[in-house]
Amino acid sequence: MNNKPALRIGIVGGGISGVALALDLCRQSHLDVQLFEAAAAFGEVGAGVSFGANAVRAIAGLGIGEPYLEIADRTPEPWQDVWFEWRRASDGGYLGASVAPGVGQSSVHRADFLDALASRLPKGVARFNKRAAQIEQKGNEARVIFSDGTDYHCDLLIAADGIKSAIRNHVLEGLGDRPVVPRFTGSCAYRGMIDSRYLRDAYRSQGIDEHLVDVPQMYLGLDGHILTFPVKHGRIINVVAFISDRSRPDPLWPQGAAWVREASQREMLDAFAGWGDAARVLLECIPAPTHWALHDLPELPGYVHGHVALIGDAAHATLPHQGAGAGQGLEDAYFLARMLGDPQVSSENLSALLAAYDALRRPRACRVQRTSWEAGELYELRDPSVGNDEQALSATLRSRFDWLWNHDLDADVAQARALLGWESLRSCV
Ligand code: FAD
Repeated sequence: MNNKPALRIGIVGGGISGVALALDLCRQSHLDVQLFEAAAAFGEVGAGVSFGANAVRAIAGLGIGEPYLEIADRTPEPWQDVWFEWRRASDGGYLGASVAPGVGQSSVHRADFLDALASRLPKGVARFNKRAAQIEQKGNEARVIFSDGTDYHCDLLIAADGIKSAIRNHVLEGLGDRPVVPRFTGSCAYRGMIDSRYLRDAYRSQGIDEHLVDVPQMYLGLDGHILTFPVKHGRIINVVAFISDRSRPDPLWPQGAAWVREASQREMLDAFAGWGDAARVLLECIPAPTHWALHDLPELPGYVHGHVALIGDAAHATLPHQGAGAGQGLEDAYFLARMLGDPQVSSENLSALLAAYDALRRPRACRVQRTSWEAGELYELRDPSVGNDEQALSATLRSRFDWLWNHDLDADVAQARALLGWESLRSCV
């Protein structure tokens, strides 16, 4: 019988990354897991989120594959392997497709996904109205102090508190690095959700192919691109219309200005003036879009300081152009769940485990950040080697995401286990 006291793990932030990790870890009897969320309840924005094959594998590995598949949409047959079709902004002309065999486009409504995760958390794991304000570390313990004056001591504190993380700079300063603030990318997005019957009727009445409703589309233009994919079993079409201002090398978002606001349809239509009918009719179906100023983070020099580790957007918030940000948070969660879920974990080997997390996860997450920015340049015809050369664009897009989707995360876990001198996971199974 194992008489070791359970390892206390505090997770700050109840978004996709934090809840997915908590859900897996709280199944382990050698761990005592608490999740702290600043809001009064779990909540996600009313929009879609898409997952690549790598993220879908991480979801399955976290034991939530079944509930995910129940609520997820897939590209319908016979286009089931298509991630996105790429089209010319001016006339909707077909440029090519990116194909993800066996997965295609896998997408969900964010709130449905978070609900599916959160409803499976055992009672007592999540605590609400707990906003982390300050972190201290002493000996082998981390202490998080909340804005209500209460605190929590643990062996490991995981910051999953998103791009505006209150904990990130504690880690960076502990590593002797400068604090980091999210940076405005120069890109903004109009978002909306359309009843697919309504869009179908609108397309039909304008003689536009209904195929554009059923199969995920990406319209590419100079300094803008628009994506569509279905959620809620095809009943809703999720739309994100990106527009970028590249006139300044270091774009600034006015201090104190909200990142998200309501926008008028007129403003959105004006931003895409001159685009073809497929894009225009699509945007005309969104009477009240929201407008998002897109921020990301620079690549961080480290994700771990002592007994505090960053995951998800707190560590590597990225532009959404590869549909990969939440997927990276899920990969973090899967990696840590497999490592911390092993009963060999103890306060003695925790530092080595976290060093392995940093060594194995950070280079990949940084590459996702970098290539997500590059993807935006490519989609918006600003890639220096491709520009508006449609043949080159189509050829690049065909295989551009393979490294991201085909990554073997279990090989990373196996490598981390080897670094700790643990038996290979595969030979244990
Ligand atoms: P968050 O979702 O930000 O969750 C953080 C949680 O922590 C929140 O619940 C918050 O209330 C809580 N919190 C914050 N501060 C504190 C505190 N001090 N104390 C306690 N709790 C706190 N990714 C994809 O994979 N696919 C996509 O298709 C995709 N599309 C996107 C489209 C757009 C327009 C944008 C902007 C992003 C997109 N992303 C996509 C990225 C994705 O949304 C994020 O990567 C993901 O939601 C991050 O999840 P998270 O759990 O790490 O952080």
